[in-house]
Amino acid sequence: MNHSRAGFRTVTRELADDDATMALGECLSRLAGPGVTIALNGNLGAGKTTLTRGFARALGVDESTVSSPTYVLHQIYPTNQGWLIHHFDVYRLEDSGQFEDLGVGEIFDSGGVCLVEWADKAADSLPPDAWKIDLEHVAGGLARRALITVPEEIARRLEAAKSSDSGRSDDHVPASE
Ligand code: ADP
Ligand code: MG
Repeated sequence: MNHSRAGFRTVTRELADDDATMALGECLSRLAGPGVTIALNGNLGAGKTTLTRGFARALGVDESTVSSPTYVLHQIYPTNQGWLIHHFDVYRLEDSGQFEDLGVGEIFDSGGVCLVEWADKAADSLPPDAWKIDLEHVAGGLARRALITVPEEIARRLEAAKSSDSGRSDDHVPASE
């Protein structure tokens, strides 16, 4: 997967447990404003829904309403910021046309934040400036690793947020990639 996009940089986070995945979602909720689309990739069970749940909870959404919408392509959660979270799971999507039939073009421009699970299945339909998060199982353990590809300024703020969060078990982040 090629994430080398001009102006974007990949930051790595080790996520020791479920709470760490929630915390990453929360952290991203402070960095992502209206209009941002976050493309989530990773195998079944990698943590895409958990990250979305942490993101939404931090914005006042009842976390129990944030489920993996396996048979529901699109869920909407109003946030305490006055804008909406659009949560998509496109696992069962047959083609990008079906995704576009949902009116995603307008939704991406509607001033909410979109989080798209299995985003690579709809890669052609996503905004070119979407943030990307690849979640993977860490070999030999239960933990996960997140590769977070975001605009340079967001990458810097993500690193700054982490260094003030001393209780976390995340390890080093490469200076650049
Ligand atoms: P996905 O949406 O990618 O299929 P989920 O978010 O539903 O995955 O997570 C699957 C399971 O993995 C859940 O039981 C969740 O609690 C757990 N989980 C999430 N993040 C971590 C982590 N960093 N370490 C261990 N387990 C995790
Ligand atoms: Mg899911």
